[in-house]
Parts: sequence; structure tokens; C-alpha cells
Amino acid sequence: MVQTRLSCRECHYINHADSQTCENCGSSSLTEDWAGYVVVTHPDDSAIAEEMNVKEPGGYALKVR
Ligand SMILES: [Zn+2]
Repeated sequence: MVQTRLSCRECHYINHADSQTCENCGSSSLTEDWAGYVVVTHPDDSAIAEEMNVKEPGGYALKVR
């Protein structure tokens, strides 16, 4: 069985496959339809994190459809 992780449509945070709400922002708008996994370790130093408006370290999707 494939465990498909879910990306939040609001903040792009990658949540566990059985998540009902986003661990990062609490949104219930989660989707399997995302691409590009980015790990942000130091949001303050990261141009990508700034671009994506990421404030917390973690795994994020580059594209959420
Ligand atoms: Zn979120």
C-alpha cells in the first residue's frame, strides 16, 4: 500500500497521509496532488523559504495544484 503524503493548499506543508488538518497552519485543505519536495531547515536564511512565505522548518511542496 502506498502512503501518499498530503500537502496543505494554504502553506504547502507536507503532512502525513492520514492527516485531517495541516500540522503547520491547521487548514483542512489538504491534497495528494502536489510536486517537488523541499526541506526547509533554516527559514530565515533561505531564499526559497522567503519566496514560499515559509516561517517554520519542515517539508514543503514546491507546487500544489
Ligand atoms: Zn498548512
